[in-house]
Amino acid sequence: MAAEQYDIIIIGGGPVGMALALALHDTGISSFLLEARGLPEKIEDPRPLALSHGSHLILHRLGVWNNLTQNTPITTIHISNRGNFGQTILTSHDAGVPTLGFVVNYHDLFRSMHKKLTASKANYIAGAAVTRLETHESSGTVYFDYQGKEESVAAKLLVLADGGHLAKQLPDITYQTHDYQQWAVVANVKAEKKQTGIAYERFTIDGPVALLPHQEDFSLVWTVSPETAKEITALNDEAFLTRLHQHFGDRLGKFIAAGKRSAFPLTLKYATPITTQRIALIGNAAQTLHPVAGQGFNLGLRDAYELANEIITTKNTRNEVGTSTMLSKYRQSRQMDSSAGRIFTDSLVKLFSNESKMLRQACGLGLSTLDCMPPFKRFVARRMIFGARG
Ligand SMILES: Cc1cc2nc3c(=O)[nH]c(=O)nc-3n(C[C@H](O)[C@H](O)[C@H](O)COP(=O)(O)OP(=O)(O)OC[C@H]3O[C@@H](n4cnc5c(N)ncnc54)[C@H](O)[C@@H]3O)c2cc1C
Repeated sequence: MAAEQYDIIIIGGGPVGMALALALHDTGISSFLLEARGLPEKIEDPRPLALSHGSHLILHRLGVWNNLTQNTPITTIHISNRGNFGQTILTSHDAGVPTLGFVVNYHDLFRSMHKKLTASKANYIAGAAVTRLETHESSGTVYFDYQGKEESVAAKLLVLADGGHLAKQLPDITYQTHDYQQWAVVANVKAEKKQTGIAYERFTIDGPVALLPHQEDFSLVWTVSPETAKEITALNDEAFLTRLHQHFGDRLGKFIAAGKRSAFPLTLKYATPITTQRIALIGNAAQTLHPVAGQGFNLGLRDAYELANEIITTKNTRNEVGTSTMLSKYRQSRQMDSSAGRIFTDSLVKLFSNESKMLRQACGLGLSTLDCMPPFKRFVARRMIFGARG
């Protein structure tokens, strides 16, 4: 393949990279997407994603939603604080939207987006692992391994949607990181009570545990220390379910069945700045958050959507794509939403997982106060659904 010139090259065909490719499709902008992994049918990643109502609207506009039949609506979020008083209930009515969001699996979302991408005949190749980037004042070049050979391709703008691996090569971009010393254990679980559209987020001293409605049952995201993650993933189903019942409490009765368990290490990681010469970062490459309150993908999808808008506006006004002026507009448009998402999730984890009894009681008081203040509840709910624009 010769070093062909595109407007945009997207590196990383995860859900955020694919969203950008779809948003640019049929706009007169030439784009090329490179994904390191092979066939999408083989991708098994059972992590549940709570998609906000705002993300649902974006996926609908991108033509992905109709393929995503495996989705379960969330109508209520129940937030509680284990071992302390205080709880808050957020409903779709509080937020003024038909549903707060939907729960889907990462691999179902991945396959639906891939199906749409293939149907729209976008320039996309799987099994292409990018190894190196070079940028100059007026363009950037990407080098990648494909079928045992090194290939290269050039564009006005390179977009990193690779989860944050390649930006480490870029001297102008630094990552701030914080290892939470927590892992998320995920599994589908069945309880004595069936799900009724309520997503439970329960804070505990070891970290939050979420039970999200998923088909008739629940998707579990259980945050624990790295040692406990190893221990509970190795338990037999009966012992695992008893341990979960002891931890979560009796709100759903006993847990009676569990699917395959997987575990993910949890780190906060964010790039500063999120652009450099002819390069923009989106999704997990720009910020990787703790899964508490399900913000990461929702935020990444808004990165992709805002960047697409910036690119389309630039092209429509006959300006050049990928210049420092365009990148500065993208950076500014994402600043508030990204910082708010990061500070919100990081504060929730640090405040509620704190060993100080006084602080945990203060958090409980905060939850009860929030529950009694409908305008503030509406603000929080809309912020979670639509980001900074909520
Ligand atoms: C347990 C858990 C639960 C979560 N729950 C939620 C939730 O409820 N709601 C929510 O909004 N978010 C949630 N998240 C966060 C969400 O999973 C991420 O924010 C989302 O997956 C980010 O998507 P992405 O496309 O940016 O990155 P990724 O999904 O990491 O995709 C990156 C892609 O880039 C490719 N790639 C990497 N390197 C290269 C290379 N060199 N060349 C080419 N391609 C490359 C990879 O193969 C991959 O396909 C959760 C995360 C975890 C761990």
